[in-house]
Amino acid sequence: MSKRMRKFLGYYKPYKKIFFTDMACALIASVVTLMFPLLTRYIANDVLTADSVAFDIILQVGAVMIALVIVEYLCNYYIAYKGHVMGAYMEADMRDELFQHYQKLSFNFYDDQKVGQLMTRLTNDLFSLTELYHHGPEDIVISFIKIIGAFVILMTIHVPLTLIVFGMIPFMIVFSVYYNKQMKKAFKANRKKIGDINARIEDSLSGIRVVKSFANEEQEMNRFQHENRLWIDTKRNSYHKMGRFHSGIGAFISMLSVVIILGAAYFISDNQMNAGDLIAYLLYISNLTDPIKRLINFTETFQDGISGFERFMELLEINPDIEDKHDAIELGNVEGNVRFEDVSFRYNEKSDYVLRHVDLDVRAGEYIALVGQSGAGKTTLCSLIPRFYEINEGDIKIDGISIKDIKQKSLRDHIGVVQQDVYLFAGTIMDNIAYGNLSASEEDIIRAAKQANAHDFIMGLEDGYYTDIGSRGVKLSGGQKQRLSIARVFLKNPAILIFDEATSALDNESEQVVQESLEILAKNRTTFVIAHRLSTIKNAERIVVLGEHGIEETGNHESLLKKDGEYAKLYNMQFR
Ligand code: ADP
Ligand code: MG
Repeated sequence: MSKRMRKFLGYYKPYKKIFFTDMACALIASVVTLMFPLLTRYIANDVLTADSVAFDIILQVGAVMIALVIVEYLCNYYIAYKGHVMGAYMEADMRDELFQHYQKLSFNFYDDQKVGQLMTRLTNDLFSLTELYHHGPEDIVISFIKIIGAFVILMTIHVPLTLIVFGMIPFMIVFSVYYNKQMKKAFKANRKKIGDINARIEDSLSGIRVVKSFANEEQEMNRFQHENRLWIDTKRNSYHKMGRFHSGIGAFISMLSVVIILGAAYFISDNQMNAGDLIAYLLYISNLTDPIKRLINFTETFQDGISGFERFMELLEINPDIEDKHDAIELGNVEGNVRFEDVSFRYNEKSDYVLRHVDLDVRAGEYIALVGQSGAGKTTLCSLIPRFYEINEGDIKIDGISIKDIKQKSLRDHIGVVQQDVYLFAGTIMDNIAYGNLSASEEDIIRAAKQANAHDFIMGLEDGYYTDIGSRGVKLSGGQKQRLSIARVFLKNPAILIFDEATSALDNESEQVVQESLEILAKNRTTFVIAHRLSTIKNAERIVVLGEHGIEETGNHESLLKKDGEYAKLYNMQFR
């Protein structure tokens, strides 16, 4: 058995009991349905034709039939209820597994992905897969038992008539499979057209002010009408295929009845059959629609489910490109010395090196500013310290320990990052600050908010710290959001800090406030600052100028200006 196959079946494992009970129910329910025509035939052939009609036997048969109905009901109930629940459990298991895998994948993976697609994998794709998991085996068991069972039973009644009738069934299956495919195709085209119409509406209404100012309403109406007509065409096509499919199956079953009645009439007149046999034939044939539909249904769920599984596995089989060594260590107390040793890095094999042979030794507690043209690699350099990306050559050491020898969690626990765009999660302000340290107490959180200059504005909100960020009406300004993200880092209390243009998006006033709290935060911690404000840079103990070839210059403000090199150029262009 292939590895994937084993993986596929493995998801049944925790639910073996339900699965086998489900299969047993499918089997029993199918056998029970096969019994009814037989019992009817028995009454018609043996009981009603006897010299004196035995009512007690009819009553007994009736009692058996009622018992069978109850058994059938219980089995179908189990299948419909527990079978679906099993499917839901399996879906949840797989969703957990994939979500957990998502959490492990690194920046490199997310750089190339659309979040919407990753969501679809977790929802729609898995749904079609679990449809296969719980309906697939059931459909197979039920349809095979019902079709083969009916065949075997009818063969014992009359061989030639059975062969004639069952000889027609493959045609019906081919017909149904074909039209079913056509129908699906038509539905798909239909959905696409609906998408086009929506896009048209959105485009036109979003731009309604432009439409009106150019007085182009009529042209918009015409374009819309055109899309709308095209929609009718796809609808017509899908109803056409649907009509063929349903009326075709209906006609086929009726044709089978006609063949049976004519054939049986002949064989009855020939004394090879009797009326009860004819009834049995008609009942079995009318029961065949269900298993045939299930069979067709199975071909679809199978295709959808298997391709869903392929996509699921494709994602699961992507290995996180950054993983802890098996003997990775936890950092104890961190002083905060950060050393780049001949570091070269590029994002992928096809792109150029962003950093080449970078050497940089940052003392514990030093305040270092990174400057350089946009795209020079400032953000990249900083994102290598928490090992968001794997460096290609060289090494980065924290207090002398290579970051590759440290557990990622432990490494990142000691580094705080404040970025330009702040992401706040759904939940309260309290929750969002607590994200910096999940075991912090309420006092710790409030202290962190005070240090980040956020306490006052939080207390001004209607529910204070318990204000729900997700709910309507809570509009935080950029500066307020940034202060929440700084409070998070205060709470985390890391030895190493990275401020990546933390204040760039803010207006002057909130920039001041945020800058103040950043300065308090930076005290006694190793700090890397990427900034556009001269005052921030000027105060740095050391300025590192990044250019196309890595580090171009280092020094303090005065010495670099005197040097009249890259920094002086940047200074004249940007900061003055
Ligand atoms: P800076 O922060 O100095 O403006 P960055 O470090 O963001 O510069 O970018 C440095 C270079 O790396 C740029 O050429 C940029 O296009 C490229 N780059 C940045 N992020 C990625 C990424 N995730 N994948 C591929 N290339 C990237
Ligand atoms: Mg940047």
